[in-house]
Amino acid sequence: MKRLLVLAAAAAALFSAQAQTFPGSKPITFVVPFAAGGPTDRVARDLAEAMRKSMGGGANFVVENVNGAGGTIGANKVAKATPDGHTLLLHHIGMASAPSLYRKLQYKPVEDFEYLGMINEVPMTLIGKPQFVANTYRDLENTIRTDAAKLNIAHAGLGSASHLCGLMWQAAVNAKEPMTTIPFGGTAPAMNALVGGQVDMMCDQTTNTTGQIEAGRVKAYAVTTAKPLTSALLKDLPTLQQMGLKNFNLTIWHGLYAPKGTPPAVLAQLNTALKLALKDPDFIKKQEGLGAVVVNDKRVDPAAHKAFVVAEISKLKPVIEAAGKFAD
Ligand code: ASP
Repeated sequence: MKRLLVLAAAAAALFSAQAQTFPGSKPITFVVPFAAGGPTDRVARDLAEAMRKSMGGGANFVVENVNGAGGTIGANKVAKATPDGHTLLLHHIGMASAPSLYRKLQYKPVEDFEYLGMINEVPMTLIGKPQFVANTYRDLENTIRTDAAKLNIAHAGLGSASHLCGLMWQAAVNAKEPMTTIPFGGTAPAMNALVGGQVDMMCDQTTNTTGQIEAGRVKAYAVTTAKPLTSALLKDLPTLQQMGLKNFNLTIWHGLYAPKGTPPAVLAQLNTALKLALKDPDFIKKQEGLGAVVVNDKRVDPAAHKAFVVAEISKLKPVIEAAGKFAD
């Protein structure tokens, strides 16, 4: 017993020494489970800069894009990483959709991570290639009702936000047949294919679509949130509810996660830095400019975010099951 107590005291001393020296000279890596240049990557790069500042400028941040399989490859990498605070996952709603879409996930989204907190919420937009036949949302719905099998929709892999949006929308409009889905490693490369006319349509976060809509490189049809957006550029886009899709409401959130077993003192340090970073006016301005809403302290609370993700997993399960044939 005495030996055990001595060991426990030694471990506690080691952890607190680690916390004092954390992060030291080793960089903190944000693993983004999607391609560079896309919406998740954008949040990560802006947040890395804000957290570098909120940690007193002493911490170095690196963003590593580990894309593929709708974000599950990157998430799995972090679940198995050394739990020392130097490898963190910046992920989105895919944390909650993956358990309903993969028969066998290599990690458990709730149990295998320490939750650091939520970051932001982002609306999505339905967009089409520049030469797409549909000019308005009504045209788009009519086209899908009659010609879905001839058309395709790009996304960032099974369980990604774009995939989720596409399947929910096709189910809501009750398309006779599913569109062909074209998966990419992220919606940055998917957007290139859309702008280039190689794919027909996509549903993606405003953090990726606002600039393309503004430049006239894609056609924009509708937003996925319950309320219309307020930004000058997107305020005239109808919501899917206004277009008759009852209760359609999809908002994407992002959060920050560490591998299970990361020392509590390191987690506390990271959570404090995250909370401060989310109050950084530069970060808020950049995010708001792209239609994202940075969350308040209550939602950055690790326990609150974990409870939210658990609820999202339960909420999405029946939605994904009901979408059945559109979920491929
Ligand atoms: N927006 C993407 C998605 O559909 C992910 C990304 O490329 O950031 O989930």
